[in-house]
Amino acid sequence: MPQTTPTSRATVHGYPRQGAQRQLKKAIESYWAGRVDADSLLTTGKELRRHNLRELRDAGIEEIPGNYFSFYDHVLDTAWLLGAIPERHLAAVPDIASPAGKLDRYFAMARGTADAPPLEMTKWFDTNYHYLVPELGPDTRFALDASKPLEEFTEALEQGVTTRPVLVGPITFLLLAKDPAGTDGFRPLDLLDKVVPLYTDLLRQLHEAGAEWVQLDEPALVTDQPAEVLDKVADTYATLAAETARPKILVASYFDRLGDALPVLASSPVEGLALDFTNAASANLDALAAVGGIPDKRLVAGVVNGRNIWAADLAAALSTLGTLLGLAGSVDVSASCSLLHVPLDVTLETDLDPEVAGWLSFARQKLDEIVTLRRGLTEGRGAIGNVLHINESRLASRASSPIVRVPAVRDRVAAVTDADLHRTSQYGKRRQAQQGRLHLPELPTTTIGSFPQTTDLRKARAALRKGELDQAAYQDAMRAEVRAVIAEQERIGLDVLVHGEPERNDMVQYFGEQLTGFLATQHGWVQSYGTRYVRPPLIAGDVSRPTPMTVEWATYAQSLTERPVKGMLTGPVTMLAWSFVRDDQPEGDTARQVALALRDEVLDLEAAGIAIIQVDEPALRETLPLRTTDRAAYLDWAVASFQLSTAGVRDDTQIHTHMCYAEFGDVLQAIIDMDADVISLEAARSNMAIVADLALAGYPNEAGPGVWDIHSPRVPSVEEVVGHLRTAVGAFPADRLWVNPDCGLKTRGYPEVRATLTNLVEATGQVRARP
Ligand code: GLN
Ligand code: ZN
Repeated sequence: MPQTTPTSRATVHGYPRQGAQRQLKKAIESYWAGRVDADSLLTTGKELRRHNLRELRDAGIEEIPGNYFSFYDHVLDTAWLLGAIPERHLAAVPDIASPAGKLDRYFAMARGTADAPPLEMTKWFDTNYHYLVPELGPDTRFALDASKPLEEFTEALEQGVTTRPVLVGPITFLLLAKDPAGTDGFRPLDLLDKVVPLYTDLLRQLHEAGAEWVQLDEPALVTDQPAEVLDKVADTYATLAAETARPKILVASYFDRLGDALPVLASSPVEGLALDFTNAASANLDALAAVGGIPDKRLVAGVVNGRNIWAADLAAALSTLGTLLGLAGSVDVSASCSLLHVPLDVTLETDLDPEVAGWLSFARQKLDEIVTLRRGLTEGRGAIGNVLHINESRLASRASSPIVRVPAVRDRVAAVTDADLHRTSQYGKRRQAQQGRLHLPELPTTTIGSFPQTTDLRKARAALRKGELDQAAYQDAMRAEVRAVIAEQERIGLDVLVHGEPERNDMVQYFGEQLTGFLATQHGWVQSYGTRYVRPPLIAGDVSRPTPMTVEWATYAQSLTERPVKGMLTGPVTMLAWSFVRDDQPEGDTARQVALALRDEVLDLEAAGIAIIQVDEPALRETLPLRTTDRAAYLDWAVASFQLSTAGVRDDTQIHTHMCYAEFGDVLQAIIDMDADVISLEAARSNMAIVADLALAGYPNEAGPGVWDIHSPRVPSVEEVVGHLRTAVGAFPADRLWVNPDCGLKTRGYPEVRATLTNLVEATGQVRARP
């Protein structure tokens, strides 16, 4: 007799916030523009929450999460909840008596005001969602404002639903925070004793309002944490659990395995744990078994992948759930993480081949999968036989589809040898060949690729989409832009030019649209940050390049000038990082296919006379696995796929790459192994610290540390750029240095671009004359 678990429930951690028509984005932006007032925005928020609640309930979700809604970001909401509001934002919006006052202070933290810069923004673990980094110092004073979770709880109760409020847990909140002053010997986690009492108070208030469960998210525990932090985890949850008037506590982890934190939480007095049983399935299963299970606790089993868009393998998930029944007091069925990271609904995709649509599962479809699995778990397989059958045939259709497996692509990948990953000659010999061809001055000046994406360019693209502009007219407009960008760079006096990327909507989408194996969606919006949503392409099948993608643009640009124009491509790792990647083969295999397609493009650019080719890999570091022990394997395929895409060229073709992040420590060796002739890196924001790191690591090739932080329109003076250059020259051989901005200029305007690049060229001249 299969054991039945009557308490098993279907649940999720969270749901997309924006609404099917992206109502929330539109309402917030209208509020910013002064077109609607605070009441109207608050009403839109409330309607959306009501709508989502009904959608989840009607889908059969038995325990519905609360407080996952946000006007901007859930980490910002947590900072607000705890009263961790920087002085400058308090001063910027001193009066919060009215709803508008509250919203304005909240948005001031998110977006800044004229004199109060916003909180810093960074990626939420290894996702493409960005959160706002709380600012905490030794003197931060906290004060609880529980109004948001409480009001949302009560609002749902009025609809007859007792939700499970979801909050960022205290450990994760503090580990994600930063002290902007960098106070000696202080870490935000030192504030734990001040924060825990507020959480206790919050639990009490939620209990009073009628909450039965509360979910505290601790995703920071899936990253390596020292014993001292794990001790704090044990203390914190013991303290929180000691409060008697509180809801039951579910501690949620996701994105990876809990590792050493699992035994700590398993032996803590909290009533429930949520674990990721998708990517981290076997590690979490083993760890659960190793502690003898959690017979006294509720397990929320994330068996449906909340990070990808593929239909789940229901039979496999059901068998995982079956195993888990023996390891926990009760087992609930959920997605691995909030569904915030996937698009809303496949049925909106009317352009997709129905067969392909059957392979997919967006947030709305994942609800059905979860509900089905819950039924299968409690009522037995027979009860869901029909659905299992359909699921099986959809998985089979995907596995045998000719767009998924293309023998020619597979044969080509299988034939790759180690020699394909390496340039013919060592860097020293290549350098001579390149110097002989390019005749560049010392400290060559260049840019990263894009020039400002002006309103006219965006309008032209929109007009093309709506059919108001034909392809030929669009091409003409883009060519005119390339001419202008080349002329501009010649006027300024840069040494290596770019075509400016005007024809690219996005550096991944642009290539995805031209490669086989990639699919685009019409409505597959996913929140990137605040009101910014992206539509990542799906890599569904084997990747190849039917025809050249950029050669015409590069050769057109090159025909306009005597100076070298860099060809510009997006690297394989970044193409994967900013897409939904197939889950039926290792990522490294998919990366190799993309790499071979890019290799064809690189060789075609070379054959067309392009002497310098840049392959951007800005996502290389953000894709780094959360657990350090997984990193070497990742870097192996990441570096190999970059090499495979670039190593086919002649000695006298110069390969560039570009990366932009604050810290390069974890990837310095990878940068060396990639063996690009030149790498341009973000550096101005960290005062060129990277240059000394490169020297110390023995980086043997050429490097262009950025001298302009392009994140703001501020124009650095000639003296400032000279200062940066002298720092660089002092730490790294001048004959291997380049001069460039931190990143592309697409978000900047022409006034600051002209002024800064002019200063950059002037500063370079001064340093060349007096090294
Ligand atoms: N070539 C790209 C650009 O200049 C690089 C962008 C990036 O690093 N994210 O826009
Ligand atoms: Zn960049």
